[in-house]
Amino acid sequence: MKITITAIKADVGSIGGHTRPSNEVFESVKDFVAENGKKAGIIDAYFGYTGDDIHMLLSHTNGINNKDVHRLAWDALKAGADTAKQQGLYGAGQDLLKDSFSGNVKGAGPGVAEMEFEERQNEAFALFTMDKTEPGAFNYPIYRLFCEPSANTGLILNPKLAQGVKMVVMDVLENKKAEFNVPEDNFAIAAVLMYPGRYVIDSVRNSTGQILAATTDRLHNIAGTYVGKDDPAAIMRLQKDFPATEEACSVFKTAHYVAGDTRGSHHMPLMPVKLGTAASSNFCIPMVSCVLFSMHEGKFTAHIDAFDTPDWDYYRNKAVKKAEYMREQGFVHPATLIPEELEYNKGYEAMMSDVRKRFR
Ligand code: 13P
Ligand code: MG
Ligand code: MG
Repeated sequence: MKITITAIKADVGSIGGHTRPSNEVFESVKDFVAENGKKAGIIDAYFGYTGDDIHMLLSHTNGINNKDVHRLAWDALKAGADTAKQQGLYGAGQDLLKDSFSGNVKGAGPGVAEMEFEERQNEAFALFTMDKTEPGAFNYPIYRLFCEPSANTGLILNPKLAQGVKMVVMDVLENKKAEFNVPEDNFAIAAVLMYPGRYVIDSVRNSTGQILAATTDRLHNIAGTYVGKDDPAAIMRLQKDFPATEEACSVFKTAHYVAGDTRGSHHMPLMPVKLGTAASSNFCIPMVSCVLFSMHEGKFTAHIDAFDTPDWDYYRNKAVKKAEYMREQGFVHPATLIPEELEYNKGYEAMMSDVRKRFR
């Protein structure tokens, strides 16, 4: 049976700053899909939030870029934004950048990652969602998962993974895609993924099928100004000819430094968190959560929080320590981003245009 899973996410408002959506906002989004999902062909739906971003995962047989599914998600997020406005939440409707729906949520603000595939007998997959960071935050962990046997022994032990994968990388500045072969292009892939503000992983596949689909939307490219970080998401199919669940999750133990956090203008470590975690008031340490699913005939039969076990507390603590070290750097780069990447670069430019006049 061919199934499409569509992950759509957006920040439509949060409590007392960029923390987490209110229960009422979250319920508005869920209720809208519960009432209208059948008409759009939805088989099953899952909802969650990571920091201030709400995500929904929809299963159906309509294929990717389906107008009915995208409209449903857009209208559900709109319903959430309306509730957020009524409650006076911060950033109400923040990521809904267009006034009306024009057939696809891509380019309208919400992030979308979706893939269509022949459902396997034991279909297992993960939904990764991040807050306070950009799509390039996936670059390093996903590179290590598919390109580095030292991070993933499965690349040696699993004959299908050992054959390598095709990786599509998006240039988010020029809106162009390029395809790379692993392992032949290993160093070329490293060269592009080295700059996560510009080149981001779009998708990964092997000869069995598509493994990964990620959101690549850059909000400031759509809005022309800073409205919030992109806070990406990715769907990754697991097990058999694909990475094992523990291989896919372990690459997030590094808590590598990513762009984002406070005012979207700093570098801080990516902290693995439990499902439904509010953004940290500790300078908004960027966060990633992961929910693991089993699916049968398009039904999400069961799910589990991948970062809930006690060992992950150790990596959370490591991220907090790395955050402390970076914050000791104060305002000095690389604690802060380069001027072009500063989300508040208008403020910085206003300050600097004045300051520049003093140089003779
Ligand atoms: P979000 O992108 O999660 O809305 O956060 C924006 C921000 O500026 C936090 O300081
Ligand atoms: Mg926000
Ligand atoms: Mg957010």
